[in-house]
Amino acid sequence: MRFIIYCRKSTDTEDKQLLSLESQEKELLQIAQIQGLNVVKIFQESMSAKAPGRPIFNEMMTMIMSEQADAILCWKIDRLTRNPVDGGQIQWLLQKGNIQAIQTFEKTYFPHDNVLIMSIEQAMANQYIRELSVNVKRGNRAKLERGDYPGPAPYGYLNDKATKTIVIDKKLAPYVKQMFTLYASGSHSFQDISEILYAKGLRTAQGKKVFKSQVQKILNRSFYMGIMERHGKVYIGNHPLIVSKQLYDTAQSVMHVTSRPRPHKHFFPVRGYLICNKCGCALTASIKKGHHYYYCTNGKGICDQHKSYIRENDIYKLVAKTFDSIKFSERKIELMYRAAKDRAQNESTDKQFVVTNIQNLLDTLTKKESLLLDTLLAQQISQDLYQEKVNDIKKERIDLKRQLDSAKKSSALLTLEPIKKAFQDANKAKTDFLKAPDEEKRVMIEKLLWNLLIEDKNVAQTKFKPAYQAMANAPKNGTISQMLPDRDSNPDRRHQKP
Ligand SMILES: [Zn+2]
Repeated sequence: MRFIIYCRKSTDTEDKQLLSLESQEKELLQIAQIQGLNVVKIFQESMSAKAPGRPIFNEMMTMIMSEQADAILCWKIDRLTRNPVDGGQIQWLLQKGNIQAIQTFEKTYFPHDNVLIMSIEQAMANQYIRELSVNVKRGNRAKLERGDYPGPAPYGYLNDKATKTIVIDKKLAPYVKQMFTLYASGSHSFQDISEILYAKGLRTAQGKKVFKSQVQKILNRSFYMGIMERHGKVYIGNHPLIVSKQLYDTAQSVMHVTSRPRPHKHFFPVRGYLICNKCGCALTASIKKGHHYYYCTNGKGICDQHKSYIRENDIYKLVAKTFDSIKFSERKIELMYRAAKDRAQNESTDKQFVVTNIQNLLDTLTKKESLLLDTLLAQQISQDLYQEKVNDIKKERIDLKRQLDSAKKSSALLTLEPIKKAFQDANKAKTDFLKAPDEEKRVMIEKLLWNLLIEDKNVAQTKFKPAYQAMANAPKNGTISQMLPDRDSNPDRRHQKP
């Protein structure tokens, strides 16, 4: 093997403890000599590896790709790279065999080792932890904010004038807690809660029901779980808590994930997706004598289907049956997937590694964020520092997403996973649909169907969303390539109604 020695030291603090370039080179040459390695070139670079674009590193890569060398000797693996783009490139060259080994002071890595990506993550994590612990000390040294809340106490609390602190309002606090508990259950709207609590004795100063907007406002206040937000900054309060962070988080996720409060009245999942085949009017749905029916609205006043009431359950069966036409066996899906993957791999680049890498880093950021909040809540860092770190994370995330987008644009392999997923979803659509609760039925229909034309209590014609229409049209016994949808019919893409 022909080795390149690569020494790197950056000017930032991350490398303060590290051997100088000269010492790295000296040590590495010694290793080479002892082990009898054939060194064809020595590179020295003084530059951070946090971002791609190191000229000497790139020169080394060019040498390797043009087969003038096939192994790297460096002090530690983190000398090579600390960013996902360069990391992906090295991982790819390792996998392809252009790089046959990476030897470090401690150990040798071979093509089958998946160690590089892990080590980049590790390096980033270590550095983060190092910075954080330094900052924790700095934060502890600085005066911790007193945690007092200025101004009138929020709903559910009182100002204790004697001690100048915030105390629990024993009358209202239990209602506040109930608001959170009720809302977190996911089955009550703000209006529901106002009414339930009215029945339990909660009144405004005027003796009325609490406004639903106030319920919403209360549910959005992190003060109740101990966090004070002021002027866009976050502080830890020393006031007593009314709800736990967990309960607060659950209520928040109900509010933001399901976005709309559960309605009182029955929700018709298929409404808007059924068209009368005779007159072209939409079918509507209503409750008659305790049963749920769908029927033609007869908007033009000429339709004999008007009297044809279809029970909700029968509609579900009809919808489920249409999903038969987009069903492929698991085995066939796997075959198609592998064939397409082979094809894509031939045209593939190192981009897929970059993408995996960046996705992992994005996950790490999310973990960092929650770690930070825990640290703040444990009063180990000041809120200023917290804010600063949160902003750093935001910037880093924006940066990574940009890198991810540009990497994704050029990888054919990445569109394969969603396509496979779409086939698998389609395969299970029939069973899933019948089992799904109403809200999920709706989600499935939105994803799969344009509409169904209905006539005489039966399906006259089915129109799927484009990607799924391609599956429905595909010959179920055709060749694999006939059945694969075009790359353009990525099912995740939003389509305009024709
Ligand atoms: Zn009609």
